Amino acid sequence: MAPITKEVDYLVIGGGSGGLASARRASGMYGASVLAVENKRLGGTCVNVGCVPKKITWNAAFIADTIKDAKAYGFDVEFKGHGSFDWEGFVKKRDAYITRLNGIYEKNLKNDKVEYLHGTASFVDAKKVKVVLDDGKEVEVIAKNILVAVGGHPILPPVEGAELGITSDGFFELKKQPKKVALVGAGYIAVEMAGMLHALGSETHLFIRQDKFLRSFDPMIQDKVTAEYERQGIHIHKQSSQSKLENIGNGQKRLHYKDSNGEGTLDVDTLMWGIGRAPELEKLNFSVTGVEQNEKGHIKVDDYQNTNVPHIFALGDVCDKGFELTPVAIAAGRRLSDRLFGGVEDSRLIYDNIPSVVFAHPEVGSIGLTEPAAREKYGDENIKVYNTSFTAMYYSMMEAEEKGPTSYKLVCAGKEEKVVGLHIMGLGSGEMMQGFGVAVKMGATKADFDRCVAIHPTSAEELVTLK
Ligand code: FAD
Ligand code: NDP
Repeated sequence: MAPITKEVDYLVIGGGSGGLASARRASGMYGASVLAVENKRLGGTCVNVGCVPKKITWNAAFIADTIKDAKAYGFDVEFKGHGSFDWEGFVKKRDAYITRLNGIYEKNLKNDKVEYLHGTASFVDAKKVKVVLDDGKEVEVIAKNILVAVGGHPILPPVEGAELGITSDGFFELKKQPKKVALVGAGYIAVEMAGMLHALGSETHLFIRQDKFLRSFDPMIQDKVTAEYERQGIHIHKQSSQSKLENIGNGQKRLHYKDSNGEGTLDVDTLMWGIGRAPELEKLNFSVTGVEQNEKGHIKVDDYQNTNVPHIFALGDVCDKGFELTPVAIAAGRRLSDRLFGGVEDSRLIYDNIPSVVFAHPEVGSIGLTEPAAREKYGDENIKVYNTSFTAMYYSMMEAEEKGPTSYKLVCAGKEEKVVGLHIMGLGSGEMMQGFGVAVKMGATKADFDRCVAIHPTSAEELVTLK
């Protein structure tokens, strides 16, 4: 049977954060004819195997921490460790919430009159895309504009038996809480998952290649969070590498590794690789488009999400902008539609001063330049750094060994002391970061911070009273 052919103004490949935001704006706000294609679940990585289930799990871990802390405040409660948390029931409820979100996303597409196909898209040539639907039928789409918003997937290292481990996708499929877990990696994902699992009572081993993790963050964050994980009792294997992972029966895996203490093996029930992600272009027959990619396969785009092929655009995790964050994909998608269909000629996302939070234990917030990057950009003589480390009032009722750290840093440049970097770690940093992000984005100076009257008693007040 000949495939059905459709012609549209805008074909969006990928129903994740960026694709959905762009499709809905183009159709719902500007009336363009839009077709969106998704081959897994609407909402993409963030909703199904990223931000949303991660944050819900982080909330559970936060509650476990609160139960541990409650004793110091006089409550007769105790966190009884692994086995005392109903992981199975929790996962069922978490999955049901996500299924509800999938439905809401589909309804939103309908409300905005975006045509939606569930199937896998691949390019026939630079102008034509074939979509293979779930029932095997094919639809050919000819579009004036095509957005590639296919995101990415977690990678495995070239280690023997690596496939016996899971990635973050597999983490969300775990039906039982790991009793003893190894995590390999030093970025957002490995650090967030290690913190959550430890808080929930799993024996947690984190394997990092260097001496610290979160190495793209300010040195203060690297030092303090690594030290805090060690203080909490997470086993950090520094200077490590892995040579083999093998099944040893009874659901156990044996990891062969080297670390700063020499060679060793570790038997665990779960190993998770958190070593980065790669663009999801495998099914797209992308080479026929002539669109340029970088050495890691990410699609090269300019400041306006244009590729080198005039009617093909890319954004989000698949493009080479280096910010794999949901709000970045959403913002880029909306601004692209404003430009293509709304007549806002200069509309684009400005990729600087983008705040982000690592949902570590404790949370980390960051915007702008690290201290070394600021010194390199402006010169040592033009940089002034303000630091503070203190014990938050929350810990006032606790013994010394139960107190968590809080540290803040402002990196200021020039005579006017413009805040070019803000780095915070401690309880509540995730929620604090958004407001301070607005200030930094507006170009606030240290004097502007100081002019804002403190809110007492909070931890955040320390940021407007730094000396
Ligand atoms: P995606 O959301 O990945 O969407 C791409 C979609 O395209 C997918 O649904 C995929 O199935 C579909 N697709 C791929 N190929 C095809 C094809 N050929 N045909 C049809 N459909 C196709 N970011 C934050 O801001 N905060 C967080 O707390 C956070 N936590 C995270 C935690 C984890 C564990 C992970 C993995 C990521 C997290 N992120 C977080 C990052 C965030 O999820 C991504 O940056 C974001 O989802 C990227 O959006 P996107 O639109 O580029 O791609
Ligand atoms: P990242 O790129 O953030 O970090 C992976 C790190 O793992 C590398 O930086 C590297 O650190 C280390 N690594 C790389 N290869 C190996 C290896 N073979 N063995 C051991 N360690 C290795 O990737 P993630 O997978 O953590 O996350 C992907 C992206 O998803 C993030 O960059 C982030 O943008 C997004 N995300 C955002 C979150 C949020 O906003 N809260 C949460 C989760 C993800 P080193 O060089 O130090 O060894």
